[in-house]
Amino acid sequence: MRFAALTIFPEIIEVYLKYGILGRAIRNGIIEAEVFNLRDFTEDKHRTVDDYPFGGGPGMVMKAEPFFKFYDFYTERYGKSYVVLTSPQGMVFDNKKALELSQKKNIVFFCGRYEGIDERVLDIVDEELSIGDFVLSGGEIAALAIMDATARFVKGVVEEESVKKESFMNDLLDHPVYTRPRIVRGKGTPDVLLSGDHEKIEIWRRKEAMKKTILKRPDLFMKKENFDRVDKLALIELFKELTENAK
Ligand code: SAH
Repeated sequence: MRFAALTIFPEIIEVYLKYGILGRAIRNGIIEAEVFNLRDFTEDKHRTVDDYPFGGGPGMVMKAEPFFKFYDFYTERYGKSYVVLTSPQGMVFDNKKALELSQKKNIVFFCGRYEGIDERVLDIVDEELSIGDFVLSGGEIAALAIMDATARFVKGVVEEESVKKESFMNDLLDHPVYTRPRIVRGKGTPDVLLSGDHEKIEIWRRKEAMKKTILKRPDLFMKKENFDRVDKLALIELFKELTENAK
């Protein structure tokens, strides 16, 4: 899969892409990522990317032409790609959208700054995506968030088992995790995790995941439709635990 980002601050994106899981996927050639400077697609000697808004008002607006120039250049080089405009006005990005985007071959991110981008750029945009109901000062963090979460679903980037059990998969949050030492500041580790009994551990984890989800994100739990065998065993354990505690 290939990502491209178009921004006036390429370094912000380039630095992030060097590290961690995404950095490794890029070095291994599973993911390709290219960052383009919007100023390289301007034609005046000051490399102007913004101008005053028609109709007046505060701030500046990003000019449309550099985006179109980039689009023509990029399409000629790689063929049609899926263009995502980062914007607080888009649908809010989530794990389901990440899975959907991970099926695409070529995704381009347009990163806005200032008051946003000239409306006419929407003609070449396939989808506007927001990362939440707040306003950032630029689209770079949004583009990175979307790239990162999307890349995790690309085969070979993260261990498949690990993706499956993470938060939101199966409409549950992830279970709590512990590591050495066994006792930290007087607090122990649940015995079951040290038992070596894999089935028991799996059921315990699912039970704790359910507790967390029900208490922290009841909205997510309400969406859960499929209860597999482990879910049911976990619910049985949860009821046993509640009954014991009530005694
Ligand atoms: N005036 C615009 C906001 C511009 S913020 C409005 O109110 O709709 C500048 C840029 O930051 C945007 O063009 C977009 O690329 C990015 N941005 C800001 N908030 C964002 C969010 N919640 N999700 C994704 N991108 C965002």
